Amino acid sequence: MKNIFILGSTGSIGVNTLNVISQFPDKFRVVGLTANKNVDLLKKQIEKFSPTVVVVADENSVLELLKSSSQKCEILSGNHNLVNAAKSADYDILVSALVGFAGLAPTIEGIKRKKRIALANKETLVVAGELINQLINKYSAEIIPVDSEHSAIFQCLTGESVEYIDKIILTASGGPFRKFNLEDLKSVTVKEALKHPNWEMGNKITIDSATMMNKGLEVIEAHWLFKLPKEKLEVVIHPQSVIHSMVQFIDGSIKAQLSLPDMRLPIQYALSYPERFKSSFVNTELPKVENLSFHKPDFNKFECLKLAYDAMKHGGTAPCILNAANEIAVSRFLNSEIGFLDIPNVIKHSLEKIENNSQPDLDAIYNCDRKARDAAKSYMN
Ligand code: NDP
Repeated sequence: MKNIFILGSTGSIGVNTLNVISQFPDKFRVVGLTANKNVDLLKKQIEKFSPTVVVVADENSVLELLKSSSQKCEILSGNHNLVNAAKSADYDILVSALVGFAGLAPTIEGIKRKKRIALANKETLVVAGELINQLINKYSAEIIPVDSEHSAIFQCLTGESVEYIDKIILTASGGPFRKFNLEDLKSVTVKEALKHPNWEMGNKITIDSATMMNKGLEVIEAHWLFKLPKEKLEVVIHPQSVIHSMVQFIDGSIKAQLSLPDMRLPIQYALSYPERFKSSFVNTELPKVENLSFHKPDFNKFECLKLAYDAMKHGGTAPCILNAANEIAVSRFLNSEIGFLDIPNVIKHSLEKIENNSQPDLDAIYNCDRKARDAAKSYMN
């Protein structure tokens, strides 16, 4: 029986994780749940899964939860308590499924406790990949990726030696605007950008998929996770999202992992690894998958993808600046305050404005995140 603590249980990954856990009551037990504001859903999750500790990051929202006296678990609030709970709760696996930079600090606590991290929060590796790898080595913790692309690569690499990798090929659906030209992109609406063709996800990652920043963040995530240089990280557009990613080896052979899109599969694998549990989430009938196609991405149309590759090349705090400015720009776009094509402009501005620190420690990363957010905001005001 493994004890599971879910950071971000009310989000898309969090809900899917609880769905997986419900299928295996003899293998997994929920000990901790967290939300930002969605107390209604959190209450239902508490009733069903009886965790011992719950954290509501938003200090105002917790009051509503405290009013319902039936809760038997410890209820905490505030970002500092996300960190404290990750530091002290009794768990075996930390599911890191907060969205954005907020995921970094509690994930580090899980690493320091030598736990398994089922990592969905790609921002952790994007902003602090080098430091995270140092901590993983120091504390002998392990990261098992939840992102479907990284889970696919992880599965393809099982039993293989890193020296035999020629390159890894991350697949991208191309999002809702794959067939749009630059002119069309000027006037797309929030509603259109939130209509992902293949996946149901939280709003931030759905917009990142539409700009292809999501793929850029994933390339940086893969760089740190699999310790590969940028020349070995390729992106191909694969609109069907059936092949979740591939590894090409030096002898020319390519291994791929396939299934119909369903995040419960990589989540389950991150919890069960190295075992595989029988489940019925996905039934991939290949004859029904009539076509698997592949195209090169258009870096001019999807400038965010190019910015992410450039930030990875520059290293240091460049990916942190990219991520912070992107978070601010995406939230403004979601509020219809800026246009879709303003997103890369906001990011470029922050990257130009803030000096890159080539060897940041954690304090420098927190500082840089704050500065990049301020730069992005002042550019838009
Ligand atoms: P959601 O927006 O659906 O959920 C985010 C979760 O984090 C919610 O529980 C939310 O609480 C909580 N949260 C949001 N902001 C804060 C904050 N400032 N402090 C503390 N908690 C916060 O996101 P997703 O589940 O879609 O994505 C989560 C992570 O997983 C992201 O990093 C994403 O890139 C990655 N990922 C997601 C995939 C997917 O299919 N969704 C696929 C691969 C990776 P509340 O509900 O109260 O707002």
